[in-house]
Amino acid sequence: MEEKRNIVIVGGGIIGCTTAYYLTRHSKFNPALHTITLLEAAPSVATGASGKAGGLLGLWAYPVSLVPLSYGLHAELAAEHDGANRWGYRKLKCGSIEAVVTKKKLGERQKSAGEHGKEWEKLPKQDEAAMELLQDEELPADLDWIDREVVRGWAEMGSPGATETAQVHPFHFTTSIAELARKGGASIRTNAKVTRLITTKTGVEGVEYLDRTTNETNKITDVTDIIVAAGPWTGRVLPRSKVEGLRAHSVVYDVDVSAYAVFTDIELPSDFIPEHRAKLGQKRQHRGRVDPEIYARPFGEAYACGEPDSVVPLPETADQVQFDEAYCDDIISYFATVSPVLAAAPIKAKQACYLPRHIRFGQESGPLIGPTVTPGLWVAAGHTCWGIQNGPGTGKLMSEYIFDGEAKSANVASLDPRKFKV
Ligand SMILES: Cc1cc2nc3c(=O)[nH]c(=O)nc-3n(C[C@H](O)[C@H](O)[C@H](O)COP(=O)(O)OP(=O)(O)OC[C@H]3O[C@@H](n4cnc5c(N)ncnc54)[C@H](O)[C@@H]3O)c2cc1C
Repeated sequence: MEEKRNIVIVGGGIIGCTTAYYLTRHSKFNPALHTITLLEAAPSVATGASGKAGGLLGLWAYPVSLVPLSYGLHAELAAEHDGANRWGYRKLKCGSIEAVVTKKKLGERQKSAGEHGKEWEKLPKQDEAAMELLQDEELPADLDWIDREVVRGWAEMGSPGATETAQVHPFHFTTSIAELARKGGASIRTNAKVTRLITTKTGVEGVEYLDRTTNETNKITDVTDIIVAAGPWTGRVLPRSKVEGLRAHSVVYDVDVSAYAVFTDIELPSDFIPEHRAKLGQKRQHRGRVDPEIYARPFGEAYACGEPDSVVPLPETADQVQFDEAYCDDIISYFATVSPVLAAAPIKAKQACYLPRHIRFGQESGPLIGPTVTPGLWVAAGHTCWGIQNGPGTGKLMSEYIFDGEAKSANVASLDPRKFKV
């Protein structure tokens, strides 16, 4: 006899949506017997980081137990659902420039700051293993949107000719996967903020959620499985998970440039301050070296992101996330020093979102994927910088945990939430 399953997923970011998708695609999913309900607190799915991330995918990303599976699934999904056109899946080259911007190059237009700000803080995208894959090369001829005169070095990621880096447009990917899950039999409720998980020591019973359109509290009962995939809000829904948020700003340019993802290390004149800050009489932002990232994106865009900040704590919901215009303008001014093309390009979006981080003993730990100590309560969260890359793998593994009782496609024992008593 097949067992009846009423599955609730908390969160409609990439992790919740890919989980819903793979549950509907699992061979044991029987729509006559099982229900899958995804509850999303914001007015639409992909309102948080999953709609505002860069979308870079890399075989050189982390954690190694999950990356190869998920990188391969991205290619499979794109082949099956026309991902190239629907969500801009494509391979692209990736490398790192070292640039020195002299005062002369800047046309001496910066006034002296005379005051030093805090050191630049890097997004933890490239771990040590990834840095070792960088090979010194000549700056490619088709990377024509970077000013060659300021470049002192170019290192390419991975072996030449290998396809170890790809990308998707994360908003289009996440919303398309949600739609495919819905067509496959999942029910998606937006403006539904989960306020309570109803559990006992021996299992789960249901969830309570606030319907933000009517302001009423509703209950879903007879639930057999709850999967908490609430990104940086996971620690609010399930405090013992210790998953929290770290804000990072980004900028989207309206520009069609050759397909490269470029990490940078830019040395600026010692008294450089971004022009907008100089105009405001602000001196805080002097930086000797900065290393923002930029990815050419499909659909005629380029995406740049800067450093994280802890200025504004995580708000109640993803649609209430605030961005600080000055942080975005910093990113724009740094890229203007190495790319006349970007300096002239119109800006399509200035935005911020929160990285979901699993913190243990004051340090960032890997994502949590799998069962908790409460039977029927599962977690899939804490993917930091690589949630877009690792979304499909996580969703697939969660569907296996639910319907097969174990993760089959990869050995993710090291990411088991029970290891941390979650
Ligand atoms: C600037 C930046 C650039 C990035 N670039 C990349 C990249 O290039 N490649 C890459 O792989 N990754 C990248 N990432 C990381 C990636 O964006 C995240 O790891 C990923 O989006 C996390 O997905 P998620 O579904 O866990 O969380 P989220 O996208 O945050 O989704 C969580 C969802 O849960 C909902 N929710 C929260 N609480 C509740 C509740 N109580 N009830 C119901 N719903 C709730 C939220 O509204 C939200 O929609 C980047 C991140 C940032 C910040």
